[in-house]
Amino acid sequence: MCGNCLLQETAFICPMECPKGMRNGPCGGVTPEKNCYIDETRKCIWYAIYRRSLKTGREEKLLEVLPPLDWNKVGTETWGEVLRQVRKTGTGKFIKGLLSKDREKRDRVWDSVFRTIRQPLWWNGDSEYHSASYREPVSLLETRLKSGEFVVATEVTPPLSANSAKLIHEIELVKPYVTAINFTDAASANPKMSSLACCKVADDMQAEPVLQIAARDTTRTGLQSSVIGSCQFGVRNILCITGDSARVGPPPTGNLNIIDIDSVQMLWILRKMRDDCIYLDGRKIKYPPKYFLGAATSPFASDPELQAIRDQKKINAGAQFFQTNIIFEPDRLDLWLEQLDKRNSLNKVYILVGVSPLKSYKVARYLHDQVPGVFLPGNILSRMEKAGDGESEEGVQIALEIIECLKEKKGINGIHLMTLGWESIVPRIVTDSGLKK
Ligand code: SF4
Repeated sequence: MCGNCLLQETAFICPMECPKGMRNGPCGGVTPEKNCYIDETRKCIWYAIYRRSLKTGREEKLLEVLPPLDWNKVGTETWGEVLRQVRKTGTGKFIKGLLSKDREKRDRVWDSVFRTIRQPLWWNGDSEYHSASYREPVSLLETRLKSGEFVVATEVTPPLSANSAKLIHEIELVKPYVTAINFTDAASANPKMSSLACCKVADDMQAEPVLQIAARDTTRTGLQSSVIGSCQFGVRNILCITGDSARVGPPPTGNLNIIDIDSVQMLWILRKMRDDCIYLDGRKIKYPPKYFLGAATSPFASDPELQAIRDQKKINAGAQFFQTNIIFEPDRLDLWLEQLDKRNSLNKVYILVGVSPLKSYKVARYLHDQVPGVFLPGNILSRMEKAGDGESEEGVQIALEIIECLKEKKGINGIHLMTLGWESIVPRIVTDSGLKK
């Protein structure tokens, strides 16, 4: 009853069961048992869709970028529209086509009905890669990545209050050591100073910001307005993320069903605004915004083969760089990188791997036990536990070992230091890893 039926593309399993309303693939929160992290009593519906698609040879269908809901249709059935389209194609021709032994013919006649329904003209999504329409890099981050430099980005936690003194201090502290600074968008669904406001502060200090936008709190109208506005504040890098469910945030829990767009749709909309100079509704943009577009990925959230499909879709939609979830087993990335390469996607995206220096055994346990998509192997947990008073030093050594390993990996273009509030460690990590320019 979403009125925007996509069953033909999702192995005939309805994706509307996903509590985040994801219409273009799974979030990074599938548990190791392949359950949904928001409600662990249920299987992740997207995992089921991917599994069945692989089993039935329909996995390439998962690459098509599907539109957000047309809310005018919600609550209605799609059958009326299907019948109208069948009549347009010709009922006899449609049935004959479906019975044809020629797969291409079958697909053609099928699409003459269903593509029109699932891809309205205002969206017109596809499964193709669309390279950016500009040549000169639009940000320092893009310039350095294009030049082949092994880049360091980091994250500064936005303040909880309206006082920006700590924010300014931390930007000042990390600025000489990194190329770009991300500002999270109400991470873990906890309200804080907005990412855009922090970006403005950073830009005023000649530091390069990365604006994060979480789909969780964004409507299609709000998204388009804020990216046009963000260009006035020096934003040239945007990271589109799904965002943690409001269910993991503090009470009282808001309406979990208001989900207007997902991160793949955000990328698609923003790329079209920049490259095709149009708003989602088709209006022309005379002076289009310029930005380097990124997406988050969680390489270990599901099987590498499935994860690569999801990531190829993001690249096709518009992602030019990835920032990964925190990684503690760098060699485990190889399978995922191989799968991306197989899909001819590795050469189309820059990858910055999330590295987190562990401040304590408690933080290590928290990440392993509570954060979806983050896994710490037994040897790291036990090193942290045994380190006692030297636990923060042990955490730094582990991070340095991981960085050393990443520097050698083909397809990895840099690191994204996620310090979880320990910003003061950034200078030490960057210097000791030999990455200070
Ligand atoms: S784990 Fe994520 S994608 Fe899967 S059902 Fe839950 S919210 Fe949806």
